[in-house]
Amino acid sequence: MAIGTTVIIIIIILGFRFFKIPVERLLIFVYVLQNLVKMFQSVNFSATQINYFQGSLNSIKELLRVEDKPYLQNGNVLFPGLKHSIRFVSVNFSYNSGSCILSNINLTINQGKMTALVGTSGAGKSTLASLIPRFYDPLEGQILVDDVDLRKFEITSLRRKIAIVSQDTFIFNTSVRNNIAYGLENVEESTIYRAAQQSNALEFILDLPESFDTQLGDRGVKLSGGQRQRVAIARALLRDPEILILDEATSALDSVSERLIQESLEKLSVNRTVIAIAHRLSTIIRADKVIVLEKGCIIEQGSYQELLEQKGKLWQYHQVQFNGSAIPNSDL
Ligand code: ADP
Repeated sequence: MAIGTTVIIIIIILGFRFFKIPVERLLIFVYVLQNLVKMFQSVNFSATQINYFQGSLNSIKELLRVEDKPYLQNGNVLFPGLKHSIRFVSVNFSYNSGSCILSNINLTINQGKMTALVGTSGAGKSTLASLIPRFYDPLEGQILVDDVDLRKFEITSLRRKIAIVSQDTFIFNTSVRNNIAYGLENVEESTIYRAAQQSNALEFILDLPESFDTQLGDRGVKLSGGQRQRVAIARALLRDPEILILDEATSALDSVSERLIQESLEKLSVNRTVIAIAHRLSTIIRADKVIVLEKGCIIEQGSYQELLEQKGKLWQYHQVQFNGSAIPNSDL
């Protein structure tokens, strides 16, 4: 600024004394010069800002870059619903980290039946179940739905027929009604009421300060684990899914909650294809097929009774849960 001011004073003196330029012209010149300087300053400021945000800009570019990132290819066949079975044929899978999570999985999930996945924590049960709604695709092998590769189906139409009731149900910061009808439009009040009733959630909802209008989530009422799960079951009932994935809660629920949840899960499972990730064997004794997983491999499959007779891994788990003997490193 000092240099700028000095230059302007020199220009005025030189212009006036040696070139005989009238003072008013010199003043206009200085005025224009000053404005020009301001404009250059703002350009300079913008350039500094751009440099400042360059780091963030690079991160955003990296996020938006599509090359060398795995994307799920969407199919173009509308999912017509499950008629016979879902078949896993020599399926291998690993997450980005590389180590094999599922290897050589061959199994058939029959329509309208209950298939239970059993195994220690980290065996790959949830990963296997998450391949069905295509949260991930197998690395090798195929999943066939009525002999059509799962990847051929349009993902939205496929997921519309699937509901997942998992341990960590997300409760949105909105009313109970909206939490139950989440993702659906124009749902009638009576339908929401019935879903809450069938999922054994009605009683606790009516006890809330504004029943179905009570705001849940951040600023609202906090729900217990069991109540959240019953909201999840009501959500699933409302969607009327053909395929139901149940990831049963491991958390210690009190016996009343456990009974209520079990009851509502049984109602939800009627006439549906159920894939149940089981932590308590009592819930899957009636399963049509039990798959025992260990370190990503199927080590046993058959009906509960058949597997008990084989006296293998399921038999050991059964002993732990019903007779109380201890097996290390088991979450069952
Ligand atoms: P389970 O349901 O039998 O407890 P999971 O399918 O959750 O087992 O996990 C199987 C293995 O995959 C575990 O070693 C787990 O750490 C790993 N895993 C699970 N989810 C991810 C993920 N999103 N990214 C990387 N590894 C994962």
